[in-house]
Amino acid sequence: MFLYVTKHINKSMNTHYKQYQETIKRTTKRNYQKRQIWLNDYLSEKSCIHCGESETMCLSFYPHDKKIRSMSRRVGINEKSREKVKEYIDNSKILCYNCKIKLENDLIELL
Ligand SMILES: [Zn+2]
Repeated sequence: MFLYVTKHINKSMNTHYKQYQETIKRTTKRNYQKRQIWLNDYLSEKSCIHCGESETMCLSFYPHDKKIRSMSRRVGINEKSREKVKEYIDNSKILCYNCKIKLENDLIELL
């Protein structure tokens, strides 16, 4: 009897835990997408200041790209935390990855 109860509890806890995990995964994914969409939304109106590339997926913030992306992943998407990311964005130039690589290798200069 005791064994049966233990098994039963374990089983229902596992099920509960799995559902819980799934919910977390979904929420995390949704929030992640929201944050990425927010950044991509911003970038969708921009183009590379050097070559004019406007494909959102190719654009990066220079020189704060890593910081902006990791911050926008870490912080929530409320106005206050957005402001901080915005600050970095305002201090960055929009460059496509091609031009960024060229710039970092001194192949081009920004005007
Ligand atoms: Zn470019």
